[in-house]
Amino acid sequence: MAEVRKAACPLNCWDSCGFQVTVENNRVMKVDGDPSHPITKGKICGRGRMLETRTNSPARVLHPLKKVNGNFVQISWEQALDEIAAKLTDIKEKYRTTAVLHSHDYANNGILKNLDQRFFNCYGGVTELYGSLCWGAGIEAQKWDFGNAWSHEPDDIFNSKNIIIWGRNVARTNMHFYEKLLDAKKQGAKLYVIDPLYNATAKIADEYITVKPGMDGLLAAGIIKEMLRLGLEDRVFIEQFTHGFADVVRLVKSISLEKISEMTEVACEVMTRLAQVFADKPTATYMGLGLQRYQNGGNTIRLIDALAAISGNIGIAGGGANYANLQVGQSFAFEELTLPERRQNHRQFSIMKQAEEVLAAYAPAIKMIIVTCGNPLTQVPDTHLVERAFASTPTLVVIDQFMTDTAMLADYVLPTTTAFEEEDLYYSSMYHHYVNYGPKLVSAPGEAQPDLWIWTELAKRLGFGDDFNFSRDEWFQMALKPLAEKGLTLEKLKSQHTMELPVEKIPWHDHKFQTPSGKYEFTAQQKGGQGRLTLAVPNESKWANPELANEYPYQLLTIHPMRSNHSQNYHLFASKPKLKVEIAANIAEERGLQNGDFVKVWNDRGEVKGFISILAGAHPNTINIDEGIWREFGGSVNKLTSSRESDNGFGSTLYDCLVNLDKDIRQ
Ligand code: SF4
Repeated sequence: MAEVRKAACPLNCWDSCGFQVTVENNRVMKVDGDPSHPITKGKICGRGRMLETRTNSPARVLHPLKKVNGNFVQISWEQALDEIAAKLTDIKEKYRTTAVLHSHDYANNGILKNLDQRFFNCYGGVTELYGSLCWGAGIEAQKWDFGNAWSHEPDDIFNSKNIIIWGRNVARTNMHFYEKLLDAKKQGAKLYVIDPLYNATAKIADEYITVKPGMDGLLAAGIIKEMLRLGLEDRVFIEQFTHGFADVVRLVKSISLEKISEMTEVACEVMTRLAQVFADKPTATYMGLGLQRYQNGGNTIRLIDALAAISGNIGIAGGGANYANLQVGQSFAFEELTLPERRQNHRQFSIMKQAEEVLAAYAPAIKMIIVTCGNPLTQVPDTHLVERAFASTPTLVVIDQFMTDTAMLADYVLPTTTAFEEEDLYYSSMYHHYVNYGPKLVSAPGEAQPDLWIWTELAKRLGFGDDFNFSRDEWFQMALKPLAEKGLTLEKLKSQHTMELPVEKIPWHDHKFQTPSGKYEFTAQQKGGQGRLTLAVPNESKWANPELANEYPYQLLTIHPMRSNHSQNYHLFASKPKLKVEIAANIAEERGLQNGDFVKVWNDRGEVKGFISILAGAHPNTINIDEGIWREFGGSVNKLTSSRESDNGFGSTLYDCLVNLDKDIRQ
C-alpha cells in the first residue's frame, strides 16, 4: 500500500525544501512538497520532483565497475575495496599520502557526506582542493567587510521598503524567496532588479536596470558617488561603526560619473535614482552567486557591501547586504566529524587550477584521484585540460550514481545511493536557517551503497576502522553537539522533521562585527594594499584587454540551468537536451541569426556548438550557455571558460570570458 513519508531535498540549492514522498512496494512513486515545512510550505521545483526519476532510473550504476583494456567490467565490492585499499597503502608507503588528490564538490548536501574528509584525514592527509567554483570570492569579500557572510532571516523581507535583487534570478534558483517577493510587493515594497539578463524575476520588478556583465561593482561605486554628492549617506553609522571610509571617498572621487556610466552602460540618472532608493531606508540588497565569478569578483561584492553600509542599511530590520548565510552551516560541529587534527601531511591545490596542478605536481606526483559529490570534467573550467590531467593520473576512482563524464574516464566507479536510500540531515547555508531530517525510505538498487559505507569498509582495510565504528545516530549526535546543549536534539529533529537553528535573524544589529577592528571595514585592515577597494574590471573586457575584446567581442555567461542541478539531470530529461546558445538581440541582428540556427561559439580555449535562442532582454553583446551539459548532449561550456582565479578567496572567473560566434553549417 502507498505510504506518504516526510523527507528532504538533498540538492545543492538555496531553498532546502521539505518533501512528502509517496512510497509503494519499496519504490519511490512521487516527490511532492511538505505543506508543514515552515519556509518551503509544500512547494518544490522540477529539480526536486525529478529525484523520483533519478532514484528509479535504469541508468543507475548498480555494481562496482573496473576499467579493463578500456572497457568497464563488473567486479565485486570485495575486489573493488581490496584493490583500492591496496593502492592507497602502496601510495602511502612509496610516496606520501598527499600523492592522493581528493576532488570534492557539493552535488548533495547531506551532513554525513562530509565524512569523506574524516577518511582522508585518518589516512594521513591528502591533497585537498581549496577555493570555490561558485561563491568563494564573495564569501571572502564579506569576511573582509563584516568578518562573516550572514544573511537576514527570510521573513525580514517584509520589513523592507525597497528591495534590490542584484544578479540573482530568484524565480529560477530560489523559488520560495520569489514567493516572498510577490507578497512583499503586495504589502507595498518596491522591487528593483539589477541584472544583465531580463529574467523572470526582472519581470515582476518595479524597475529593471540592465548592466554590462562584470561591471556591478563599478555601478555600486557610481551609486555611492551620487549618494555622497547628494549628502544621503548615514554619517552616524559611518563615523561610529566603520573603518576606512576616507579610502572610499578618495576612490569615488577618482572617476567621473560619466565614465562610470560609459563603462557600466547604465545611465547617470539611474545611478542618481538608485542612490535615493538606498537612502530611503530600510533597503535590502540580495546578491546572487554570479556577480563574483570574475577576476574582479571579490571587489564587486565589497563595493555592493560598501553601498549598503554607507546608506546605513546594515544591522537594521529590512536592510542587509545578503549574499550567503554561513551561520546555518556554522551551527554544526564539523570538526567532530572530520578530525582535522589526524592529518599528518597536507597539500592544497586550487579548485580552479586543479588540472594544471595535477599535471605539474611533484614530490609527490599525483598517483590517485578520488572524486566524491562532483563531476569535475563538466564543472571545472577549461575542460580539455581537466580531461588531460585526470586521464594522465594512474588511478581515478569516482563515487557516483550515474556514469557522468568524469565517471566515464575512471578506473573504478563505485555505485552510491540517492538521498531516499539513506538517512541524513540537510541544510543550506544560502537562505533559510532550518535543518531538515531525511529518513531512509527505500532500499538501494543493485549493490549501490552509501558513501559512508564505502569509507567505513576502506577504513577497516587500512587499519583505522575504529574511527568509523559509529551508528548513524552517533554521527548525527556528533554533528548536532553544539545544538543539543540548547535543547535542539536529534530526537526533536527526527520527530519534527525540521528544526529552526539559533542564528542571528538581523545580522550585525549590535554593530559588533567580526573583523579585526570590530568595525565594518571598507578597507580590510589586515590585508595590506589588497584590502583597499578598487575600480577593477573583468580581465576579459575591452577596458582591461582591448585586443582580446576585438577578437572576441561577446561576453559569455554560464548560468545555472532551469531543470538541472548543475550537471545532475541532463541525462534524465524525457527528450534529449540540446545545447542552447542564448544571445542578445543586437548579436542576432549583426550576425543575421535567427532562433534555431546552429552556431559555433569559440575562443582560444575551445569551442562548443548549439542552437540559437534570441534573448530579447539581454544586455547588448551578451551570450548565455547554461552550465552542466554532458558531453553526449553537446559538451560542457567549460571548454570555453578560464581557470584564472578571482581577486580573493580563490574563486572562479567563469563569467570572465570573451567569445566569438558564427553560423555553423555542419550540424
Ligand atoms: S532543488 Fe531547491 S527548490 Fe527544488 S526542491 Fe530541491 S531545495 Fe527545493
